[in-house]
Amino acid sequence: MKSVVHELARIVQTVAMADLPIDQVNLIVESISETMAVDVCSLYLANEEREMMLLASHGLSAKAVRRVKLPPGKGLVGLVASSRHPVNLADGESHPNYYYIAETKEERFHSFCGVPIVHAGKVIGVLVVQGREIRQLSDEEQGFLVTLAAHLALLLGNNPLAHGDTIGLNERISGVKGAPGIGIGHIKLSDHGELYSVVDTACEDIPGALEDWLQLLELVRNQIDHERQALGSEITGSVAGIFGAYKMLLEDPTFVSYVEAGIRNGNWLPGALRQAIQHFAELFLAMDDPYLKARHEDVHHLGNKLFNAWRGIKPVDIPSDTDIVLVGPAVSVSDIASVPSERLVGLVCFEGSGLSHTAVLANALGIPAVMGTGRIRRLVDNASIIVDGNNGQVTLTPSEMVLAEYQKLANDRRSLMKQLERLRELPAITPDGTSVTLYTNTGLLADITPGLFSGSQGVGLYRTEIPFMVHDSFPSEEEQIGVYRQVLDAYKGKPVHMRTLDIGGDKPLPYFPVDNEENPALGWRGVRFTLDNSQLLMTQVRAMIRAAGTSEDLRILLPMVSSTSELDDFAELFDDAMSQLESEGYEIVRPKLGIMVEVPAAISQIPFWADKLDFLSIGSNDLSQYLLALDRDNPRVSGRYDHVHPAVLMEIRRIVQLASAHNLPVSICGEMASDPVAVVLLMGIGMRTLSMSAAKLPQVKWLIRSLPLTTAEKLTKQAFGCPYPAGIRKLVRDELESLGLQDLFS
Ligand code: PEP
Ligand code: MG
Repeated sequence: MKSVVHELARIVQTVAMADLPIDQVNLIVESISETMAVDVCSLYLANEEREMMLLASHGLSAKAVRRVKLPPGKGLVGLVASSRHPVNLADGESHPNYYYIAETKEERFHSFCGVPIVHAGKVIGVLVVQGREIRQLSDEEQGFLVTLAAHLALLLGNNPLAHGDTIGLNERISGVKGAPGIGIGHIKLSDHGELYSVVDTACEDIPGALEDWLQLLELVRNQIDHERQALGSEITGSVAGIFGAYKMLLEDPTFVSYVEAGIRNGNWLPGALRQAIQHFAELFLAMDDPYLKARHEDVHHLGNKLFNAWRGIKPVDIPSDTDIVLVGPAVSVSDIASVPSERLVGLVCFEGSGLSHTAVLANALGIPAVMGTGRIRRLVDNASIIVDGNNGQVTLTPSEMVLAEYQKLANDRRSLMKQLERLRELPAITPDGTSVTLYTNTGLLADITPGLFSGSQGVGLYRTEIPFMVHDSFPSEEEQIGVYRQVLDAYKGKPVHMRTLDIGGDKPLPYFPVDNEENPALGWRGVRFTLDNSQLLMTQVRAMIRAAGTSEDLRILLPMVSSTSELDDFAELFDDAMSQLESEGYEIVRPKLGIMVEVPAAISQIPFWADKLDFLSIGSNDLSQYLLALDRDNPRVSGRYDHVHPAVLMEIRRIVQLASAHNLPVSICGEMASDPVAVVLLMGIGMRTLSMSAAKLPQVKWLIRSLPLTTAEKLTKQAFGCPYPAGIRKLVRDELESLGLQDLFS
């Protein structure tokens, strides 16, 4: 056997290239038997009845494939699965668990080595090799199989091959939450093509190819114009600017003639195009200016657009009454623009996190989205799909029954929201008289009005990175003033907490990539980034203060603070900004200053910082991520992430106690503030200001108006005695349901 790492990489890559599951599994067994020089390689996968079905085999009788189904625990395969341990035997037949199945014709084989395939803690299959000789596999061979099985688990985990080549009814795929809501519609694939896999081939008709190239340019230019128009006024002009960048390259004579030269040198059009795109992408990548550097992505995207057009792939014609769910590796702004907004009901991205660009847009546009599902194969345009953005789940080819259920959920939700509209003007006050302040979190101009409409008392968190993310370069002071002023004007007389730029980690800026960080969550992000780039921070702080003018509504909020020196450095810049603006003659007031308590280290330092700050805001998303050491956007560990964790609750209680001891107002603006179970506990802990997305506010108000504080306090006391997040959830949920508040969980 050649180098294990090399062979592994080769097999994993070969398999990943195949589109159909049946091709994948056949490739797996073929490649393994070839690499290991064994007579048989078989893949068994557990089906819904927990039987081990022989899904593919090189060496066993073809008739046995898909027919042989071993009951749980049966035979050597069953032993591997139940023990979760390799079984490596010189002669399988002499083992007491050996179970002969005539269809396989396996009596010819003696050696047997089976290893379990485990995904998310469950045995999903068994990989077996067999040989004619009586011999035990070497440690190296067994290790190779074990390693391969671990890779296969990743590949097969979300891909229930046991159901066959077509997507099973109600096949469910998990990802991470991108934007809330339920979207029911038909798939429109936005796969961006594989220009880079094109190989050079001799061109048979050079004049014809040159002609085709000019027509292709014209075709794609028109497509881009069409997409830009479809975008309309819904997204800022700067996003539409991406299209400008595409067109600029299409019209660049150097680019056009580069492809022509490639064709004249005898390469066919796709080969010449690939070379040109690679060349220009590399040029951008080598640039020092971070904005221009990041443009290499646009060049790739444009290359694939041209390639798809050459292949004759037109944007699918959607009947005007079809509701569309865009699905693809990374759905781009131009994909979104290519669907009429009233028809776009959902987004599914194989890659990305809840805070990636697409998710940000989806939130702003109110489109349910699921991110990070991993590549979903076998998808076809127009098949029906359900996007459950509330739970980060996608259902493929839903049955009538499941469709009806989701439809009911969506309708119930709509009517609940309708009913809750009546609470809009009423205060958030518990039946026993404790009042709670409810703010909204916003970030895009598009989500300002829903907040006001739902009765928000101010903006608890304005995520300024969002306007930065939908821009194509750092916005100027004047541009920022324009955006901030709209928010401040809309909420006139109410507090608006504007957070300074919080990029880095899970929030990339397309035009300022923070590359090469081994551990971005612990890296150059939040205030660490802006203090190091104080020119950006100065512009932003000046823009905020100028936008507020003489109004006292503005509060400045600093993200990711973990040490006193960061506060001192910011104070210096803040003073400087104030004196600059005063000496420039602006009429301004000094805004209040607070920090996000989201790095655990901040908690113990609250006493040191009390006289430097006016308020605290708990960022429970990051606080939970750092306390639990769980990446909030990693689908592999998302099942373990729960902010209703005893460790998180205890730290929040400590923050509230410290804030109260030092007379600092404290609020919470992470996702906890809109989770009904967490809201009860936060109330019990003593939190009286909650900030959440506008869509969640009516339900939270309903909860507060329905639940006496004494009940919340009783439940919180019990919760602090419970070591399991699930136990805490059950305790609170049971009580809320007994009070008739079950609709909070729909
Ligand atoms: C948080 O961390 O809880 C928070 C509100 O900030 P963000 O989600 O933007 O990191
Ligand atoms: Mg945060």
